[in-house]
Amino acid sequence: MTETNQKDSPVQGSQLAHDDPSTRHPKVSPPEQRQDAPGLDIMTDPVPDIGLESYVGKGRLEGRRALITGGDSGIGAAVAVAFAREGADVAIAYLPEEQPDADRVLKAIEEAGRTAVALPGSLLDEDYRNGLVDEAVQGLGGLDILVNNAGQQLISDSLETLTDQQVLETFQINILSMFTLSRAALKHMGPGSAIVNTTSVQAYNPNPMILDYAATKAAINNFTKGLAQQVAEKGIRVNAVAPGPIWTVLQVSYGQPMDRLVEFGQDTPTGRAGQPVEMAPAYVFLASGESSYVTGDTLNANGGTPTP
Ligand code: NAD
Ligand code: MG
Repeated sequence: MTETNQKDSPVQGSQLAHDDPSTRHPKVSPPEQRQDAPGLDIMTDPVPDIGLESYVGKGRLEGRRALITGGDSGIGAAVAVAFAREGADVAIAYLPEEQPDADRVLKAIEEAGRTAVALPGSLLDEDYRNGLVDEAVQGLGGLDILVNNAGQQLISDSLETLTDQQVLETFQINILSMFTLSRAALKHMGPGSAIVNTTSVQAYNPNPMILDYAATKAAINNFTKGLAQQVAEKGIRVNAVAPGPIWTVLQVSYGQPMDRLVEFGQDTPTGRAGQPVEMAPAYVFLASGESSYVTGDTLNANGGTPTP
């Protein structure tokens, strides 16, 4: 930024410099590390930024009640913190072994003065899946927002080594659960409610090492567009967010080969990986009435990689 730019701008120069996308968050050049999936954010080096120190709410979701799957860590955790600070009561779903991450998020929701509901369990468990939305409704007293964000990403060298069991599980967690949870949620939702799904830049540019994962993300975009048309007349909107490379524990838990992690995200036009906190505003926008004329769409938040 030049000095002239700063002088000409009505915004304080220091604030503009702070908003420079290439430097707003540091480049991630992580040391070698590996966790078994699903892994813990709090054990990741550096710890992903879920906005605990920085996200400031503006009352954009006052009184809403939200269920967020995968709300313990990474993108889902950043969304949970943001939603609570925007005035929403929040239920988070996560795997039981992720309790230490979930505790941090549940505490942040309560510190924002909102109700926090903990719903541990696996989306591979049919009973849990079928009962999850009702549990959330019970804990929150209703439901206005569903964020389908849980996801599994496990690398596999070739189709030879990719087992059918992994393919089935990835599809169950990433996309099939969206059918079950959305169906259950819609029974409780009224006009003004919103569903936000997490897809990925992988929907358009599949990395050959994550064939199963990338295919679910393309399906999520399609599901989002179709369901949005079905429920528009009820005053309910359905959209998706497509993150690019975001620094989360998903990547260090066999989500990427180690040699790609070292310069993770540095091949994007912005030149660095994103942080979970940078995804949260997209979900807040799509969950709130601010996006009242947006439905069936995918908001790409990927550091500038062109998308179709
Ligand atoms: P994350 O590991 O922090 O979150 C994924 C969550 O999915 C886990 O916390 C876990 O609670 C949940 N999950 C996994 N298996 C589950 C199961 N069997 N049952 C219930 N829950 C299960 O990582 P993240 O990167 O924040 O991922 C969140 C979403 O963002 C995922 O859908 C992922 O595909 C998507 N995404 C991530 C990136 C990235 O670069 N990190 C990019 C694009 C899209
Ligand atoms: Mg987690």
